[in-house]
Amino acid sequence: MSGHERRLVIASGNQGKIREFKQLLSGLPIQVEAQPDGLDVDETGSTFRDNARIKAKVVARLTGDWALADDSGLSVDALAGAPGVHSARYAPTDQERIAKLLNALNGVADRSAHFCAALCIAAPGGELLLEVEGRCDGSIASEPRGDDGFGYDPVFEVTGTGRTFAEMTPNEKKKHGHRGRAFALLQPELDRLLAKS
Ligand code: IMP
Repeated sequence: MSGHERRLVIASGNQGKIREFKQLLSGLPIQVEAQPDGLDVDETGSTFRDNARIKAKVVARLTGDWALADDSGLSVDALAGAPGVHSARYAPTDQERIAKLLNALNGVADRSAHFCAALCIAAPGGELLLEVEGRCDGSIASEPRGDDGFGYDPVFEVTGTGRTFAEMTPNEKKKHGHRGRAFALLQPELDRLLAKS
């Protein structure tokens, strides 16, 4: 590996996310690292974008390297955007989160919803170098369907497909999904950023 490659720290303690980002960025002239152990940044923002910014800035400042952060979640129209930035904390387990969501929508006709994933890269001085957002529109199914995926996947039916995320293969989810879309936007932007720096 070249000693001149720029380091990019993934601002997350989630091993799955770190692995996913390392794979995604493997073709770029950049050294991808996990954030230091034990670091836990409070997600106090009111939007996905705010939270991605907060995490990227804190980790860039602490490490002295560029940092990449992401934040994502599910927003339901009839619930005024809930669970939104609280998606991970809406209830203690995936199963309870799904039950709470279905309960909140009991008898509600408008079940439209969307997933959003915000990605942000910050520099140690606090500058935001790059920001993208991916979105996937859909609706909340009346009951869980499918065995794949995680989180709210079994109850999120993707517009135009008739299927939930949990009924899709990983490649199909990547193509339609909010994270896959955000990644697709990130790559060319990061190429440009690296060429400039
Ligand atoms: P975070 O981006 O790690 O803060 O996680 C946000 C939360 O949103 C997750 O814990 C899930 O509950 C939910 N979420 C985000 N993306 C997905 C997805 O692709 N499928 C299902 N749930 C998701």
